[in-house]
Amino acid sequence: MSVTLRRLQSRASPANEALDEPLSAGEREAMICAASEKLEELLDILRIDHRNDPNTRGTPVRVAKMFVNELMRGRAVAPPSLTDFENRLVYQGMIVTGPIEVRSTCAHHLMPIRGEAFIGVLPSATGKVLGLSKYDRVVDHFASRLQTQEELVQQIGEFLWQNTNPRGLAVRISAAHMCRMQRGVRAGNGRMVTSAYFGALSEEPALKDEFLRECVTLDGSSR
Ligand SMILES: [Zn+2]
Repeated sequence: MSVTLRRLQSRASPANEALDEPLSAGEREAMICAASEKLEELLDILRIDHRNDPNTRGTPVRVAKMFVNELMRGRAVAPPSLTDFENRLVYQGMIVTGPIEVRSTCAHHLMPIRGEAFIGVLPSATGKVLGLSKYDRVVDHFASRLQTQEELVQQIGEFLWQNTNPRGLAVRISAAHMCRMQRGVRAGNGRMVTSAYFGALSEEPALKDEFLRECVTLDGSSR
């Protein structure tokens, strides 16, 4: 076993937590290679003739690349840097952004989670005001892992709370889970809503109401 691969294997951590440090290009390649071999083995066990079947030839390496470079990418790269704008006019009102596309993967079944996030921020005079696209990047960073929707909303909220120092913060995710639609109860198009509130937004019901009203308006105007 190569040194690189041994190092990769010695650093196992929960599915939605970042690795100790970002993976280098070489480490990512080694991970794809090793995962691809195991996926070949899996297809063999399932008696799928991926060596001769044109539909599944190349599937092990394709899936390994997809896992490492896309579905779980967020664990192995540094979080987005949060370039901020100085809150010069000391804007005190609530900023609500959304819908932000959420594409994640369920940690229990490895099936897609697809939905929308809304983020509400009450800036403080000393905190950061982010460019809007930064919120999309933060959502994508934490969604690009094997997740549960409950922990995803909390991770996004805690990261923004700690790094932008607002007076209040709210994150709300509404999503459909393919593991519920394609298997088990085979539910139609049921969705799940999770939310996380911090600071003034967790303490003042009127602010929470304002945030939820804005979510409805933004959701309606996007359709
Ligand atoms: Zn699931």
